[in-house]
Amino acid sequence: MYKDATAEEIDVIMQEAWKAFHAYRKLSLKQRADFMRAIASEIDNLGDELLKVTGEETNLPEARLRNERARTMFQLTSYADACERGDWLEARIDTAVPDRNPPKPDIRKMLVPIGPVVVFGASNFPFAYSTAGGDTACAFAAGCPVIVKGHPAHARTSEMVALAIFKAAEKTNMPKGIFAHVHGAGNEVGEALIKHPFTKAVGFTGSFIGGKQLFDWANQRKEPIPVFAEMSSINPVFLLPEKLKQSVADVAKLYAGSITLGVGQFCTNPGLIIGLESDGLQTFINSLGEEIKKLAPAAMLHPGIFKNYVEKRANSLSQPDVETIAVSETEPQLNQGAPTVASASGQAFLNNPVLHQEVFGPYSLVIRCKDMTEMINVVNNLEGQLTATLMATETDINYHEELVEAIKNICGRFILNNVPTGVEVCLSMQHGGPFPSTTDSRFTSVGADGIKRFASPIAFQNWSNDLLPAELRNENPLGIWRTVNNQPAKETL
Ligand code: NAP
Repeated sequence: MYKDATAEEIDVIMQEAWKAFHAYRKLSLKQRADFMRAIASEIDNLGDELLKVTGEETNLPEARLRNERARTMFQLTSYADACERGDWLEARIDTAVPDRNPPKPDIRKMLVPIGPVVVFGASNFPFAYSTAGGDTACAFAAGCPVIVKGHPAHARTSEMVALAIFKAAEKTNMPKGIFAHVHGAGNEVGEALIKHPFTKAVGFTGSFIGGKQLFDWANQRKEPIPVFAEMSSINPVFLLPEKLKQSVADVAKLYAGSITLGVGQFCTNPGLIIGLESDGLQTFINSLGEEIKKLAPAAMLHPGIFKNYVEKRANSLSQPDVETIAVSETEPQLNQGAPTVASASGQAFLNNPVLHQEVFGPYSLVIRCKDMTEMINVVNNLEGQLTATLMATETDINYHEELVEAIKNICGRFILNNVPTGVEVCLSMQHGGPFPSTTDSRFTSVGADGIKRFASPIAFQNWSNDLLPAELRNENPLGIWRTVNNQPAKETL
């Protein structure tokens, strides 16, 4: 339906983005924030027509799309507020001490925008992690132009949201080239974008294969650039014995809901549940199976994701020592993912890397460990994860300190007695984790701290007050929090 961008078109887009970068970075934080708020308002103006088109393209129900659109607008407006507040700039000032021996110079540091950012729209978040999603919002807040490669599975949605961004840019007098939107159903467009010398950073959410390819291309460039890719995660959940004694049926019900939420198409889907062999664990397995049987299959995002689900689920279920516990009792139609849970021993999991792989959809594997040593061994053999969850009492936690410490090494968000699905958009959120869940565990892709991904520090040494950026001047004209001689301060120096 839409034409793939050609290499020549990409070159023109990147030249314009590079020019726009030099104009946009000079605008005030307030001007950037006003642009972002205008995008939110233009998305709102798209009304129910947007929801209709996205529903047709993604099979997602209207209520979910309404929520996701609201979340997307909240990301834009709350990151706009954060942009103006300026904490993310990490402004640091150390004033000169001329009579020290040797004299200490005046040094002032802050984050500045990195340059044009290429964003790959995610299939599983057509609004919140696509065209005007979190990566785009963070890049605009940081002062960077954005080039979006729309996800082919929701190209019309992407096109509509792109037009909303263009309108907002026009209304707020943004420089030409501040935003571009391209289509590309093959890998060539992504490759050309990543390899273009004016691309300075990349945001991506999707498969491990896709994210790793973009990361490798970025690192093979003459000038390597950062790729913030969120890839695969199976989000292990650890069931501890005292907790199972207290509320096994409730935990099973809670997890049946989390495994199947959004047909399991969330990066935080709990794909692995780990417990100790016991009557309590067996009761949990039986109860989870009963709940899963009752849940109906539902249409997945696109035929490719459905195909992957069918293949990866079948591959996991066919591994030695993997036993199917339960499958939805309703027969799935074409493109519908059937809720499924299976089980394997701790030893089988440790011996078989296939069982460590993400099965993107409503699927979870329960691992039965023979003792706590084996459970800790499982943790130590797990790849990096976006989240890990403990279902535990305080007694469990105090008694199993080594397990708790081991889990802290492998995840970005550590949840207690809750489910990993549902990612709050707030400053304290960490949505990232050790490789392969992301390519850079030091950053988050949710919450205003995500702005820092698209900025890098510069220190000004010995510059006179008038020549410094407003953020670092003595008068603090923007009224932002800064660290002055090691103390947080807003006052004039
Ligand atoms: P994807 O295949 O990784 O695609 C995401 C985006 O990256 C698309 O725009 C795609 O373009 C591009 N891309 C992928 N591989 C590329 C490559 N080698 N070179 C250049 N561009 C590339 O993800 P998806 O289509 O959304 O879903 C496929 C699978 O990814 C799912 O079945 C699931 O396993 C996984 N997934 C995981 C998460 C998560 O959060 N953990 C989220 C979404 C998907 P093209 O479509 O044009 O190739």
